[in-house]
Amino acid sequence: MKSAGIISVGNELLSGQTVDTNTAYLGRELLCADVQVTRHWTVPDDLDAIAEALTLATQSCSVVLVTGGLGPTDDDVTRQALASFLGVDLELREDLLKELRRFFKSRGYPMPQRNEIQAHIPAGSQVIPNDRGTAPGIKAVFKGVPVYAMPGVPNEMKAMLDRVIKPELLAVSGHKIVVKKLKCFGVGESALVSMLGRKMRRGRNPLINCTVDLGVITLHVIGSGTTLQEAEFLVEQDLVFLHKTLGDLVFGEADETFGHVIGRILHERHETLAVAESCTGGWVAKLITDVPGSSGFFKQGWVTYSNESKVQLGVPKKILETFGSVSEPAAEALALGVLKKSGAQHAISVTGIAGPTGATDSKPVGLVFIGTASEQGCEVKKYLFTRDRASIRLRAAQSALHQLWKGIIL
Ligand code: ATP
Ligand code: MG
Repeated sequence: MKSAGIISVGNELLSGQTVDTNTAYLGRELLCADVQVTRHWTVPDDLDAIAEALTLATQSCSVVLVTGGLGPTDDDVTRQALASFLGVDLELREDLLKELRRFFKSRGYPMPQRNEIQAHIPAGSQVIPNDRGTAPGIKAVFKGVPVYAMPGVPNEMKAMLDRVIKPELLAVSGHKIVVKKLKCFGVGESALVSMLGRKMRRGRNPLINCTVDLGVITLHVIGSGTTLQEAEFLVEQDLVFLHKTLGDLVFGEADETFGHVIGRILHERHETLAVAESCTGGWVAKLITDVPGSSGFFKQGWVTYSNESKVQLGVPKKILETFGSVSEPAAEALALGVLKKSGAQHAISVTGIAGPTGATDSKPVGLVFIGTASEQGCEVKKYLFTRDRASIRLRAAQSALHQLWKGIIL
């Protein structure tokens, strides 16, 4: 496997104004091209700093990716730094200039003078076309090490990576790579890793990697072979093993979310969903409506923070007085109330204490009750999430969808 160095360029990355999501993205995506990121530098918009990082990166890695600093403003100096590192001049490329002029003309205004710099690339380098913006990417080779410079704008960088760089890296590796992803929920990362045992050991083919985002574990199965069929066969074998071992901990594939998988099931059955959220304040509805076409199965949602709003949805006052709003009976009555009021076939209710205030002796921060109801009845589960307010709310929202999904796949 090749090793890659990433250089992120930008003062805003060092001052904390922008979070460097490009590096995380590249790290994940390059694995699928048989390339592992082994070094990373974040440097300011400064000629010497960029050139120094290029020196270190080309010494220690077999491929180098740079993002940022290709824009038209005076502080964008990646192109100049690359030229000086390579020991060549910047050359005006007439074809790029024409392309830039056309870009601006198609948007109805003349090209500002300062954009002309974007038609320059270091002599002897190649252009990586940018179909989403004005800054072309640049490919140079230094002592046999390919260096790819891309714009910092995430969607421009992603497009170049997919269209040009990943295919080039794969072609060079000589291996055919197949990557499949499985989405898992309902178990901690370390528990899942121990369930998979030696299948996750480094250097194995396929390689199984795992990443975690708010409770959702993504397993990447990366198979490599001399032919595509060989790589596919190895990956398929692992997928069979993973499904068998993990059972209903696996809820989806590729980039699917609970929104996608629930949406697909409800859509096929011509059924709908409605939600009432306390604690998650609309996150369940958001996760569902992130999916295009969700209006086909998502009926409505209520954000019910006051007792009065819960009573309006049919929760008896007596339940709230006796057990409180964060309680199993309240979650049950709320889910059943939503079912009735909305006319949907499925309902979710969430009620809990996201903190940091609001806890009592018997009800700690992180205590959440989630109800899922349908004409088959209502199930309420009690959860106790840890950490801060934001993660408690997001974990609760994901868990609500997980609970619904488990209820409807049976
Ligand atoms: P532009 O033509 O837009 O100036 P550029 O190549 O010069 O492109 P930058 O100026 O470095 O890129 O950044 C453009 C935008 O992309 C900014 O909004 C910046 O915050 C964002 N950005 C830059 N680098 C990163 C990164 N590593 N991760 C996430 N966002 C980034
Ligand atoms: Mg810029």
